[in-house]
Amino acid sequence: MAAELDLVVRARRAVIGPREVPAAVGIAGERIAAVTAYDDPPAAARVVDLADDEVLLPGLVDTHVHVNEPGRTEWEGFATATRAAAAGGVTTILDMPLNSVPPTTTVEALETKRAVAEGQVSVDVGFWGGAVPGNVPDLGPLHEAGVFGFKCFLLDSGVEEFGHLEPDQLALAMKETAALGALMIVHAEDGGLLDEAALDGGRYAGFLASRPKAAEEAAIDLVIAQARATGGRAHVVHLSDADAVAALRAARTDGVDLSVETCPHYLTFDAEHVADGATELKCCPPIREAANREALWAALAAGDLDFVVSDHSPCTVDLKRRGGGDFGEAWGGIASVQLGLPAVWTGARERGHALVDVVRWMATATADRVGLAHKGRIEVGADADLVRFAPDEEFTVDVTRLHHRNPVSAYAGRRLAGVVRETWLRGVPVADGDEQSPRGRLLRRGER
Ligand SMILES: [Zn+2]
Repeated sequence: MAAELDLVVRARRAVIGPREVPAAVGIAGERIAAVTAYDDPPAAARVVDLADDEVLLPGLVDTHVHVNEPGRTEWEGFATATRAAAAGGVTTILDMPLNSVPPTTTVEALETKRAVAEGQVSVDVGFWGGAVPGNVPDLGPLHEAGVFGFKCFLLDSGVEEFGHLEPDQLALAMKETAALGALMIVHAEDGGLLDEAALDGGRYAGFLASRPKAAEEAAIDLVIAQARATGGRAHVVHLSDADAVAALRAARTDGVDLSVETCPHYLTFDAEHVADGATELKCCPPIREAANREALWAALAAGDLDFVVSDHSPCTVDLKRRGGGDFGEAWGGIASVQLGLPAVWTGARERGHALVDVVRWMATATADRVGLAHKGRIEVGADADLVRFAPDEEFTVDVTRLHHRNPVSAYAGRRLAGVVRETWLRGVPVADGDEQSPRGRLLRRGER
């Protein structure tokens, strides 16, 4: 006789692989041990039955989060970012290498970050390394130390300690990541095509004009060329320009190992409705027109965009409001790790997509691209990271109920559908009050 399981979660609706079905999910320790028919659950010490209005999802995997600790901990930190993640149904995050000090460009800096994060994370956390001018010799050791790949910028990153790569430096760095088999993820805007003069008093139209689609397209062409030349694996972060999709698709059709993400804010907002002075909506590349947004949705539906991640990029309220509403002056970045799921689900539902699509975009595809085959899916052997999600319950975003450090949100006051009622991390619910002994783990590439 098989030993009795610790827990079985039964749901009339569960996202299992590419389908939504009634199911019973059996958990032994931290892992999923059985997935059976709803009416034929395995024996378990405890049974949890989801309500009729709830759907069981795998925990999301958000590969684009700026935690900023240490160094800019007043912007965000591991405790607050991971609490926000858990509240949003995200059970795994990958931390970006910049905005913290030190940036994650050496093994020493990685170990500093890991030491700071240890013991204060509510979800599982992995780390990206950074590729900056002169650190090609650090990439191999960082790869060995377990980073999930490398992030680089092709224009000023906004922080002086994280330099950007010129085309010849990108070529050198990608030659190295190709040799390592590591993923190179790129902020793809060409600084030479930005038009600072367009900023024009800091209104939104000027800001948008200052960061044209052509800047994204030129940078993406460069990434494609380097991925072709080196045979390396590349990924374009936070695509805003839907017109770049054709070049990306063509390269992928040719067999270039290339993926691309977009973010909830590009799928939710549109330039026509960004009020002058509403700098909580400033991000780079910028939120573009409604027609562009719809083209991004179409690209997602067609499989031309691989996934949707938050680009959770907080700062202090002062920095977000610097310049008193001037889009040229305010810090860019939208903090949304807690709201990505309802934001994307709200838009997806309106356009006829199903929860299985949202789970593919926000959990399974992200996990697969970074080599976390045991995350982002409900299947035997996977980590028991689960979400109790009420897709039809609506709520109005109240910034005081968000867990990230600074109470500012692009979504403040917005009506969204989909409430995360409970999140399990490796078989155990993440609950309020867990702050004293958070259970998140620090992940290394290739390790379980
Ligand atoms: Zn980012």
